[in-house]
Amino acid sequence: MLEEIVSHQTQGPATTAAHAGEIPERTGSRPVAQPIFQTTVHSFKSIEEMEQVVENPDQGWFYYRYDSPNHSAFADAMAKLENAEAAATAGSGMGAIFAALSAVLKSGDHIVADTKIYGGTYSLLNDQLPRFGIETTYVNIDDESAVRAALRPTTRVLYTETLTNPLLQVTDLEAAAKLAHSLGLLLFVDSTFSTPIVCRPVEWGADVVLHATTKYIGGHSDALGGIMAGRKDIIEAAHLAGKLMGLTQGPFDAWLNVRSLKTLPLRMTAHSRNAQGVAEWLSRQPGIVKVNYPGLESHPQHALARRLMPEGLFGGMLSFELESGEAGARRFVRALREIPLVPSLADVTTTISHPASSSHRMLTPEQRAEVGIGEGLLRLSVGIEDLQDIIQDLEQALAQSK
Ligand code: PLP
Repeated sequence: MLEEIVSHQTQGPATTAAHAGEIPERTGSRPVAQPIFQTTVHSFKSIEEMEQVVENPDQGWFYYRYDSPNHSAFADAMAKLENAEAAATAGSGMGAIFAALSAVLKSGDHIVADTKIYGGTYSLLNDQLPRFGIETTYVNIDDESAVRAALRPTTRVLYTETLTNPLLQVTDLEAAAKLAHSLGLLLFVDSTFSTPIVCRPVEWGADVVLHATTKYIGGHSDALGGIMAGRKDIIEAAHLAGKLMGLTQGPFDAWLNVRSLKTLPLRMTAHSRNAQGVAEWLSRQPGIVKVNYPGLESHPQHALARRLMPEGLFGGMLSFELESGEAGARRFVRALREIPLVPSLADVTTTISHPASSSHRMLTPEQRAEVGIGEGLLRLSVGIEDLQDIIQDLEQALAQSK
């Protein structure tokens, strides 16, 4: 871990998470749960009082698109959990990514991004940002010479993810941060798959950490949201950009995200333990060519994962390749009784997806093979149910998929 990192955490993550959203006592009593502030604006008794808040946004709230008590509660707790100087909310994961990038980039600038980033981010970088004069080159960012070869005088950002989708490759965040900083670049890390309970990229040198809180932080498939955390100057600029672009999270979604944050440490522990159990079980089954899970000793980057994820929790996402190929994958999904096909992830219940027909559908089979995504690859978002029940459903589906 970087020695120069200053700790912004004054308590353990479970305590921070459990107390998220508490509001200061005013009249001797206070609600235990933070209310939903379903108001677009706050009123003031005088012009002076309003000016005080306009000039000092951390002393009160003004207009909902700028901030609200629900947003502040969410951002404050996430900054502490990420051990970051600051955090701000956005209406979705994509909103957070766009706001954070737009805070540090201008027309003519260039990004070097990892080839394995989430498809939505790829489309944003590839199809949308070029229209604003911002270009991206894709490389394997663990390959220093490839990063160096992609550099332009205008390169500003190195962009990656902690755990990649769907092969669960681990990015060496410490090496990426050292490389980025030695080249005068900022390191942006989407840590949606791991959450701060599993890995805190700021502690390895990331300048900005991004989350689709729609996934694990929300955890119940009922709220859309995004978080950007990291260097205070960048987060303040990203927050301002988000406000002006109207990327604000709705009040109920912010409230739901705070409510869910309280159980994030418990849920990530359960997701990780179950995923470890499922991965170990799958590894022993005939008919499975490969299991991708960073907690497995057979994972090529297991040692790196252990270093970056020191609690021994590796998250709830894994993938596995069926020997029976695409037809087998289709039979497997149809045979599942309790585990539904869901084109998202991170619910408390176990869900499955087929990357070749969903997230990586736009690639040809040859392109998919090149990046290691076989037609028989299935991605499992392992939930918090009883492990034996998850395995039982997988076992009967596996028998029917052959
Ligand atoms: N980042 C990652 C890694 C994701 O998986 C997703 C969505 O699946 C996003 C960002 C975008 O999040 P949202 O759908 O909340 O915009």
